Amino acid sequence: MFDQRGRPLRDLRISVTDRCNFRCNYCMPKEVFDKDYQYLPHKALLSFEEITRISKVFVSQGVQKIRLTGGEPLLRKDVEGLIEQLAALRTPDGEMLDLTLTTNGSLLARKAQSLKAAGLQRVTVSLDGLDDAVFRSMNDVDFPVADVLEGIEAAHAAGLGPIKINMVVKRSTNAHEILPMARHFRGTGMVLRFIEYMDVGHTNGWRMNEVLPSSEVIKLIQAELPLVPLEPSSPGETAQRWAYANAAGQPDPALGEIGVISSVTQAFCGDCNRARLSTEGKLFLCLFASGGHDLRTLIRSGGTDTELASAIGQIWQARSDNYSEVRGALPADKGTVMRRVEMSYIGG
Ligand code: SAM
Ligand code: SF4
Ligand code: SF4
Repeated sequence: MFDQRGRPLRDLRISVTDRCNFRCNYCMPKEVFDKDYQYLPHKALLSFEEITRISKVFVSQGVQKIRLTGGEPLLRKDVEGLIEQLAALRTPDGEMLDLTLTTNGSLLARKAQSLKAAGLQRVTVSLDGLDDAVFRSMNDVDFPVADVLEGIEAAHAAGLGPIKINMVVKRSTNAHEILPMARHFRGTGMVLRFIEYMDVGHTNGWRMNEVLPSSEVIKLIQAELPLVPLEPSSPGETAQRWAYANAAGQPDPALGEIGVISSVTQAFCGDCNRARLSTEGKLFLCLFASGGHDLRTLIRSGGTDTELASAIGQIWQARSDNYSEVRGALPADKGTVMRRVEMSYIGG
């Protein structure tokens, strides 16, 4: 099944909650996500049975990878119960799914074992720096680095690997943390990925001059720790991969690799095979979409799996989104013109 640009559907990202215990200023700024903010009511959320049913249909339509996200997915009560159900799904060829989760790591030390036991294969942990003061101010709830590192260790010990570490880089805030992060994770078997600060949502006051292009991140690391480019490991991969090099200038497996996700300076819409399911069951075809397609009504009104599959097929086949490729050509006030959904609602 292909969309209008010939892209298959392979990757489903499911947001299991729109709530979070952090207030990262690039995602859920405190001034907007305050005590009066209206989160989704419980009955609006897809139940685990509904998520599993929709996922099963997506898998029948070509999805091979499911990532749970949010908000903070580990805040969803008994998320392990959902993971158990998703881990039991099989592709039409009888293969297991690639089942993963993105988390801020705050509850990981407590939950790593139970997540693994439920069938989760690996995790991606977000961490924007090692300097405690910088990190506390970026998460804006005074959460310490040490607790996230403890969560990462617990995930490693539980076998939730290979672990990826996501660092969003804001030029004036944490660019000086790039090298300390690279030094810290080099040789650990964990893959550190630098993400360009994106203009998602409309609340984070995004400015182009706060984006540090990935090319500069690579240059900065290269100057101290030699890197060599690697081929993508799968089509549609968001990160460009770089290996740490040995003295002969060859990739050194013992030192591992890093990734850069350059959604602002180097669009990768061309092979984007990702669909996103919001907490309340809307299907979004792009991270920057202003609206989604309601699947919850269809399943709550007695729609069959065949009807659901046909709806998903029609939606995907009509898809032509390529926001990152056209960003530069949009009017400067695009954030107000296109009222985009928030990252915390749709997931990363
Ligand atoms: N709460 C979880 C976490 O932080 O890992 C999962 C949800 S979060 C929305 C998913 C990913 O999106 C995180 O790695 C986060 O750093 C990233 N993210 C959020 N806002 C972003 C922005 N404006 N630009 C780039 N990445 C962003
Ligand atoms: Fe929460 Fe993740 Fe957004 Fe930070 S990036 S506010 S941890 S959802
Ligand atoms: Fe995919 Fe949209 Fe991102 Fe392009 S901008 S890579 S279409 S999610």
